[in-house]
Amino acid sequence: MRSEDRRTSDRVPGGPGARGTRGEDRAQGPGRATSLRLLLLALLLLALPAYADESSDDDPADEAIATATPSPPPAPDAGGAESAGAGVWGPITVAGTTVLPGERVRSGIAASQSFAGIDVETPFVVSRGAMPGPTLCLTAGVHGDELSGVEVVRRVVVQSEPSELAGTLIAVPIANPHGFRRSSRYLPDRRDLNRYFPGRGTGSAASRIAYALFEGIVARCDALVDFHTGSFHRTNAPHLRADLDRPAVARLARQFGAAIVLHNTGQPGTLRRAATDRGIPCVTYEAGEPMRLNESDVVAGVNGALRLMRRLKMRPKDPGEDDLEQEIYLNTRWVRVDAGGILRSRVELGQRVVAGEVLGSVVDPGSNRHSKVRSPFDGRVVGMAIDQVVIPGFAAYHVGVRGSALGPDMPEVGAPGLDPDRDDRPE
Ligand SMILES: [Zn+2]
Repeated sequence: MRSEDRRTSDRVPGGPGARGTRGEDRAQGPGRATSLRLLLLALLLLALPAYADESSDDDPADEAIATATPSPPPAPDAGGAESAGAGVWGPITVAGTTVLPGERVRSGIAASQSFAGIDVETPFVVSRGAMPGPTLCLTAGVHGDELSGVEVVRRVVVQSEPSELAGTLIAVPIANPHGFRRSSRYLPDRRDLNRYFPGRGTGSAASRIAYALFEGIVARCDALVDFHTGSFHRTNAPHLRADLDRPAVARLARQFGAAIVLHNTGQPGTLRRAATDRGIPCVTYEAGEPMRLNESDVVAGVNGALRLMRRLKMRPKDPGEDDLEQEIYLNTRWVRVDAGGILRSRVELGQRVVAGEVLGSVVDPGSNRHSKVRSPFDGRVVGMAIDQVVIPGFAAYHVGVRGSALGPDMPEVGAPGLDPDRDDRPE
C-alpha cells in the first residue's frame, strides 16, 4: 500500500454503469505532475502491487482493486454531481479524479514530496455508489504508527461494492504516508499532522499536507470518521470522541454506535475539530495501541462504520440490528503516577472503577517498594499505559467520568490549564 510513485488511478468497474478506465486530472488537485512524469510513472505502476493485494478469510471481497491504464483527463465539468440538480446522480470528482456511479477508483493526492523531489502521494479510494446518497469519508493513519484504523478502512472499502452502494464512500487509509513508512506518529520534521488541520498551502510541511488533504478530500465529505489508536505505549478501549454539543455530530456518534462516547470539542488543529468547524460532522474512533493490530478493535471499528453506513441509508438495513446502548462520558482525566519504577496494572481496559480503587502500582526494582496508583473518582478506564518503566508524572490511566460525578475542581476537558501535557491525548 506504499504508493509514492503512483500517478494514475486504479479503477475497478463496480457495476453495470462502469465504463473504461481513465487517468486522473492532476491539474484540478492540489498536487500537480508533469505529463512526462505521468507517462513514465504509469509504466512503473504496472509493476507495482494493487491496493488490496492480499486475501483474508474475513473479507467477503478479497480481489484486488484493478490497475488502470492512464488516459486523458476528464472534462472540467465532470465533477460536482451533487450540485447537478435534484434527481441527478452522476460522476464525482475528488482531488482531480473523476469517478462514475458504480465505480471504485484508487488514486492519490500529491500532498508532499520526498527528499528526492518525487511526489509522496496520500492514497485514497472513492467508491461511487450506483444510487444517490451522502458522501461518507473514512480517514486513518493521520498518525503513521497507528495501524488498526488502516485495516478498518481497508475492510470497509472491500465490503462496500459500488453496485450495491447508495452514496459515496471516500477512504483515506494512510493519511500520513511519511510517518507510515517510518512507523512514526510524526512527520519527518517531528510535527504532528493532527495539529495542523485545516492547514495552509504556504505553511510548514505539516500544514501543507493537512491543507491538501482537507481541501482536496475532506471538504467534499458530508460526514467523516477519523480512526486512531492510543499513543506511545498506551492503549484505548474502543470509543468515540465527539462534540456532543453539535446535534449533527451527536447524531453521527449515535449512528456509529460504539459503546463508549467521550464528549469534547477536540484540540484545535485536529482533523476532527477542523472538519466540525467547517460544518462537516466528524467523530474520532479510538481503539487499541500503536504499532499493533488487535483483531477485536478492528472488528469493532468495521462494525461501527458499516452500521453507520446502514443508518445513513448507504447500505441495506440489517433487520436484526438493535440500538446499541451508548455510555457517554462528559469528562475524562488522566491519573498520573507519583513514583518512578515499573508500572504494573491491576485494571483492564473498559473496567469500571470507584474512587480510591487501586488501578496499579509502580514497583521500584531496587528497593522493591510498591507505590499504589488509585483512582481519584468513580469512572471507567477508557485508556491506559501498557506496563512499562515510568517516572513521576507519567500519565498512566485515562478515566472517563460521568457528568454527575463532576466536582467543582473538575474543569471541562480541553479547558485551559487542565492538562498541559497535551501529547497524552492521543487523538
Ligand atoms: Zn492518533
